Amino acid sequence: MTKNNTEISIVVPLYNEEHNILAFHERLLNSIESHEENFEIIYVNDGSKDNTLFIIHQISSQNQKIRYIDFSRNFGHQLAITAGIEHSNGNYIVIIDGDGQDPPELIPTLHEKAKSGFEVVYAKRKKRNGESIMKKLTAKLFYRLLAKITNIEIPVDTGDFRIIHKKIKEILQKMPEQHKYVRGQIAWIGFNQTFLEYDREERMHGQTKFTYRKMIRFALDGISSFSNWPLRVATISGFIVSFFAFLLIIYSLYQKFFGYTEKGWTSMHISILFLGGIQLIGIGILGEYLGRVSENVKNRPHYIIRDTNLNEND
Ligand code: UDP
Ligand code: MG
Repeated sequence: MTKNNTEISIVVPLYNEEHNILAFHERLLNSIESHEENFEIIYVNDGSKDNTLFIIHQISSQNQKIRYIDFSRNFGHQLAITAGIEHSNGNYIVIIDGDGQDPPELIPTLHEKAKSGFEVVYAKRKKRNGESIMKKLTAKLFYRLLAKITNIEIPVDTGDFRIIHKKIKEILQKMPEQHKYVRGQIAWIGFNQTFLEYDREERMHGQTKFTYRKMIRFALDGISSFSNWPLRVATISGFIVSFFAFLLIIYSLYQKFFGYTEKGWTSMHISILFLGGIQLIGIGILGEYLGRVSENVKNRPHYIIRDTNLNEND
């Protein structure tokens, strides 16, 4: 197999998936082999602390269509898929989780749909099995909020499970931001995009790696990459609060000279706290954006590869 005639590259990020990978790999092979012979699978080991890498080495030594990228540490799901996409050779690239939640059986349908004239076909979650009510609720709210406040249409209820044309990959490589929100970047790129619906399955083994802390960070990346809305909210609330503060000042001056002044301890206390709060919010939001600016200015590599078999067998 040479680089140039690869039709589908399948990018799979893996972080501590030793209990899932073999079963996933088998499902993946079953669904792709009968559909398309010119494929490659790129497993990205994102700094796993278990036997994931060992298992990848084993399966890739048996089949030269299986490539792997081993990161020097955990860089996170978004950078793992970014690395996989950047090193893919296919005309089409599939992004799919390795825990069995995204059904590999859908890949042939995604591919057919893409070939009928779409640069992006994303898989939209109809049902999410086996995830906590809290996770489903926060995800739902977040996607709706994001859709409201950004000026591009990031599809709701969609993860990164999708197929993209290599054109999209070439443009992604020109988008060097450090805080990746890949599905937002792809939505931003445009071309013909459509979706297929599927039922999201339960994880085969283990637990989600997205703690609430990581989800909040991810949500902030999504929002700050595609919207200046939080900054605007800070400015607008600053104006509103200042307006009322101005009225209050006039009122208290009037009271002082023409009315009579109470001790006023309570109202003073409340307004100081209130203003302090608003100011902190504003500063915090500025900080969120400034922090991201400074990271982008540093221009560090997005990820570091310790080992790979990408350059073999060509
Ligand atoms: N993953 C990764 N790096 C991380 C966290 C997760 O490569 O830091 C992989 C993980 O192995 C899985 C996929 O990304 O294949 C999705 O992760 P997870 O199932 O934890 O997310 P969820 O499905 O709960 O959104
Ligand atoms: Mg999962």
